[in-house]
Amino acid sequence: MAHRLRLQLLTWDVKDTLLRLRRPVGEEYATKAKAYGLEVEAGALREAFGKAYRAQNLSFPNYGLSHGLTSRQWWLDVVLQTFHLAGVLDAQALTPLAEQLYEDFSSPCTWQVLDGAEATLMMCRKRSLKLAVVSNFDQRLENILMGLGLREHFDFVLTSEATGWPKPDPRIFHEALRLGQVEPAVSAHIGDNYRRDYQGARAVGMHSFLVVGSGSLDPVVRDSVPQEHILSALPQLLPALDRLEGSPTKV
Ligand SMILES: [Mg+2]
Repeated sequence: MAHRLRLQLLTWDVKDTLLRLRRPVGEEYATKAKAYGLEVEAGALREAFGKAYRAQNLSFPNYGLSHGLTSRQWWLDVVLQTFHLAGVLDAQALTPLAEQLYEDFSSPCTWQVLDGAEATLMMCRKRSLKLAVVSNFDQRLENILMGLGLREHFDFVLTSEATGWPKPDPRIFHEALRLGQVEPAVSAHIGDNYRRDYQGARAVGMHSFLVVGSGSLDPVVRDSVPQEHILSALPQLLPALDRLEGSPTKV
């Protein structure tokens, strides 16, 4: 016998799915460094940040929680490393700058709600869906969402720092399903990262949608994600949910 699927929970990635930084990291770091008397080129800082961030994540995954770090210390180290790699070696000048940058990125003003995000969340609410955040983020997320007026749309916010498990670890998705009191088959996750979001959610049996933007598709994504799971913009989500719920499910 077949019956229609009725989704009950949508979980959301945040960075580059609902929010993005107002200005690229390199520019933000360069502007703030200038205020501290340090002239560093934004391009050099962008490149150095990429290296420092990747190295820190590799050595101390998920904000170094299992190594006894706090997420604040983890981020301060990333900033210090970034400036070291960009050629600034004066640690004394860098400490207050790193602290300032940590504060800046905690502020909702540094972030921007992506086009269509708020309207899509509101329409999902109208369909009586439970909504939740599942994000590889630190403790600052809740405040940022509150400051940007998005927190009220969510039943709960789960971060990798709070749970101890970063996506694609299945445990963070299982925790969301437990809190939402739903089965994976009636849940869907929306995110912009193929491995962490799309595959992570699919691995626990959830439905999943990948937000890819309007650029050309990564060949891996093109070859492995069905077209109906790909969203080039958030307003495409509602029609995609209709299509998914319209397909009969065998039980
Ligand atoms: Mg993301």
